[in-house]
Amino acid sequence: MNEKIRKHIEALTTGRKFYSPEEIKASKRKLPLTQVMKHVGDAAFASEKSIASPFHPSERPLFKLYRTRWGIRFTCCNKCGYEGDQIDYLKARFQLSTGEAIALFCRFAGIK
Ligand SMILES: [Zn+2]
Repeated sequence: MNEKIRKHIEALTTGRKFYSPEEIKASKRKLPLTQVMKHVGDAAFASEKSIASPFHPSERPLFKLYRTRWGIRFTCCNKCGYEGDQIDYLKARFQLSTGEAIALFCRFAGIK
């Protein structure tokens, strides 16, 4: 994990912890999953073709992005079961609780 992200995650213990559904919705519109991945240094994994997992070692290509009418989502393998949206990505990537991942995501989207 790079220094910038580590500091962001450390900062989750201070400041605002709760974000409204409207703020989360606005953040999702503003910052699609591919942008979140770039933000945390995972641009290399932002692919619609199956590639190695950003979450765990994988010999086979397991991870990929796909488009839905609600935005871009990701899926990994049956073993880890990781899948979902921007918030699910941050949870899985940095082992955060749902609340921490929401706070980190909304801060990335510029909501203080
Ligand atoms: Zn997996």
